[in-house]
Amino acid sequence: MVTARPHPEGPWGSDPQRSLELTCMSNLLSTSEERVYFKDRLSRFLLVSEGWIAAYAPGRTAEELIGKTDFDIFSERHATAAFEDEQQIIRTGDPLVGKVELETHSHRADAWVSSTKMALRDSDGEIIGTFGISRDVTAQILAEQALLDQTQQLSLQNERLRELDGMKDEFIGLVSHELRTPLTSIIGYVKLLRDKRTSEVNADQYAEVIQRNSQRLLRLVEDLLFLSQTHSGTVSVELRSADLGEIAESAVEEMRPEAERKHIALAFSPASAPRLPIDATRIAQLLGNLISNAVKFTPNGGKIEVRVGTDGDKAVLEVADTGAGIAAADRERIFDRFFRSKMATQQMIPGTGLGLTIAKNIVTAHHGAITVDSDEGHGSTFRVWLPLEQAPAAGAHDLAVGQARRA
Ligand code: ADP
Repeated sequence: MVTARPHPEGPWGSDPQRSLELTCMSNLLSTSEERVYFKDRLSRFLLVSEGWIAAYAPGRTAEELIGKTDFDIFSERHATAAFEDEQQIIRTGDPLVGKVELETHSHRADAWVSSTKMALRDSDGEIIGTFGISRDVTAQILAEQALLDQTQQLSLQNERLRELDGMKDEFIGLVSHELRTPLTSIIGYVKLLRDKRTSEVNADQYAEVIQRNSQRLLRLVEDLLFLSQTHSGTVSVELRSADLGEIAESAVEEMRPEAERKHIALAFSPASAPRLPIDATRIAQLLGNLISNAVKFTPNGGKIEVRVGTDGDKAVLEVADTGAGIAAADRERIFDRFFRSKMATQQMIPGTGLGLTIAKNIVTAHHGAITVDSDEGHGSTFRVWLPLEQAPAAGAHDLAVGQARRA
């Protein structure tokens, strides 16, 4: 039963008291489940407990292990670290208490252990080696790590919720402002229209302002409606074969008055775009958002070009402007809900930060992609790729429904 015996050339001598102590120790080690070891000054094993063998060298005997080192049992990395610790204890006499470390093994899973190591002294107090006890704390460490991960996740979620809450307040403020501005203008111009002194020429101008502001309101309400539907995951697109060129042309014409007001040259270059399965209303909404952004962010006298073409098995839509451009740091974020650049808010350019989120939602629902190229200060080009043919499930028939997903 006794598996741990002193090394024949060990430092124990033949004193009867020593011999008794050794017997006690031997009994203790051969039954203990604790992982106990004794090593000489060169970190060679003198004695190991049964628990140590069961943990690290199952199937081997204590006799076999005498004279071996950690390098015969553990990975090189672990054995080197342990050797250095032991040499330091031998040099200083200072113990190493409750050190939690990762034990790396060559042939089985790594484990976390808590080790206490001390100097082994002879009856004269001379350091003749080290001894130590280690306990497997893998389960505890993993539980602690899981708890830490959970706490970090919770705090991230918390942070995100706080951010969302702030964004919601900001959004309500923005939307109220975006609703009030055109409404105030409409009310003012209706009053002017009803004034008997208003000439016919002026009346036409006032009606145009009212129409422009009503359009702006309508676009905002449509955006909000779209977004609320997307949020609950119920928005679908109805894919029907349609002419992208025609849709783009009418989107351009819709924005022309606004562009002319800013003396922006708005050009449309159609290439031969085949019919493709799209939701025409949604694609018109997407183009409306891109072109209205281009108009908003391009100063008076600039240029905007809308192009339609194909690239392999995709149709490509491009809206290029010579406007403010987008800072590199913002390019990743412009498709995020409510995101508006500092420049947009500082210059009080109207908007809610929803247009591009919606654009991306629409593109995703069509299994397409949207990208932006921009040279800050010199303009931006938004590109949309739409599959010319939808995958069978989504577009084999003239009418198919694809779920819009949140961006
Ligand atoms: P909004 O236009 O209401 O601010 P969007 O989601 O449409 O919201 O756009 C988000 C942001 O992306 C804008 O605030 C602006 O900073 C930037 N952006 C979008 N289009 C352009 C563009 N053509 N030129 C420069 N910046 C743009």
